[in-house]
Amino acid sequence: MKKTFYLSTPVYYVNGAPHLGHAYTTVAADTLVRYKRLSGWEVFFLTGSDEYGNKILRSAKDQKVTPFELVNKMVERFQNLWQTLSISYDDFIRTTEERHIRVVRNVFQKLLSQGDIYKGKYEGWYCVPCESFWLEGQLKEGGLCPECGRPAEIIQEESYFFRLSQYQEPLLDYFRQNPDFVLPRTRMNEVMKFVKSGLRDLSVTRLNLKWGIPSPIDEQHTIYVWVDALINYISALGYSLNETKLTKFWPANVHLVGKDILKFHAVIWPALLLALGLALPQRVFAHGWWKVNGGKMSKSQGRVIDPLQLAQDYGSDQLRYFLLREVPFGQDGTFSKSIFIKRINSDLANDLGNLLNRTLPLVTRYCQGKIPSPGEEKAEDKKLKEAVGAVFPRMELSMETLSFSVALTEIWKVVKLTNLYVDRNAPWQLTGKENKERLSRVLYQVLETLRILGLLLFPFIPPSAQKIWQQLGLKEDLEKQLFEKAGKWGGLIPGTEIQSAKPLFPRIKE
Ligand SMILES: [Zn+2]
Repeated sequence: MKKTFYLSTPVYYVNGAPHLGHAYTTVAADTLVRYKRLSGWEVFFLTGSDEYGNKILRSAKDQKVTPFELVNKMVERFQNLWQTLSISYDDFIRTTEERHIRVVRNVFQKLLSQGDIYKGKYEGWYCVPCESFWLEGQLKEGGLCPECGRPAEIIQEESYFFRLSQYQEPLLDYFRQNPDFVLPRTRMNEVMKFVKSGLRDLSVTRLNLKWGIPSPIDEQHTIYVWVDALINYISALGYSLNETKLTKFWPANVHLVGKDILKFHAVIWPALLLALGLALPQRVFAHGWWKVNGGKMSKSQGRVIDPLQLAQDYGSDQLRYFLLREVPFGQDGTFSKSIFIKRINSDLANDLGNLLNRTLPLVTRYCQGKIPSPGEEKAEDKKLKEAVGAVFPRMELSMETLSFSVALTEIWKVVKLTNLYVDRNAPWQLTGKENKERLSRVLYQVLETLRILGLLLFPFIPPSAQKIWQQLGLKEDLEKQLFEKAGKWGGLIPGTEIQSAKPLFPRIKE
């Protein structure tokens, strides 16, 4: 039986251009699914856009376009970034799509008929000019609206509620039985604490908000954007419409989210799923934030980093590598251009790029540009070979917990070891006839290690890994490989013509 793996990013709220945080979640997700595909899993990788709500409506008004024109334009920017960053999603769902809207309405209808949704009165702080409800804790000092700074007032309106309070105990039971439901563990503890403190029923509709999905029984009420957005994880699988994909891929293996939206994914979403009688996702992983030069990203202080610009200036694989290598996934990190450039130069240009760049010309010069025969194996050759083989199980362990930086560190141990091996064996000195066999062995050893490194690195830096293979003279598509087969030592066939070396990661001047 084929193993299936369903991973999602959130649908991103498109009220603005994509920032580094969006790129971070999506690059991490892409790396994990590429790893899973190479490990023989059938993957469903979902991302998309969250397009309703008041903020979008207001931005559209400000820009004198229709909300739909606005979201179309923004979705294009997101998709363009994903293409630049080699994101291999299987589906991109937009919450304004008919296939999503129908499912959201079906969910609402079902929950209403079984009594999990009821009509009540919502009371809360409201800013009239912004047409937004705020929680007391969100207000600025003196009861002012956090967006426009004008005084908010308490108003009451009719609303539909989801019986979230009823799911407090079932959720706690589930958390106790599945302590890894939320990772990192510290986040699981936060969620537990929050649920234990008591859950209140959740208002799930807004009255007279025009840019949203109308509730099926009462068109004046539109469905709260957060509830609508969460449902994307099953609407993309055809829940209540055509459930072939749902049967195949649900429950999700991992929902990948930023820590700021963890409660929606670890509390509201599982409660909705329990109400629908669906299995809960295996894991919600909450990653940290990138701070820029010490502060949180903010537009007003010029701390917004445009990932597209970074990728265009320095290379998209360079950006992917940096994001996954620099900071343990789950923790916060600090972005600065000088740290970024240092990391790229030391790891990619010096260690990896140089290994390829100093080996290939030797093959051109001493082996007529062809992969040499391995010849006799010495103890130190065997040692390098075994170090390469040892990466696979270690990588599997780290990828299981989304420890991307650990996996990369393991791979880099081999990169460094191979550079040492080249230094020690100094193939450029093995030019005499009597050394011919040794020269062949040493070069084969390094080239074969580079082939396997290309395979291991494909999830992290896909186009560059493919280029490593091309320079080694391999024509196969890395995307179609399996670790099980391609990861075995000895895949390079002697006599294969290599390509001339082209620097993969040019040094960046600071
Ligand atoms: Zn306001």
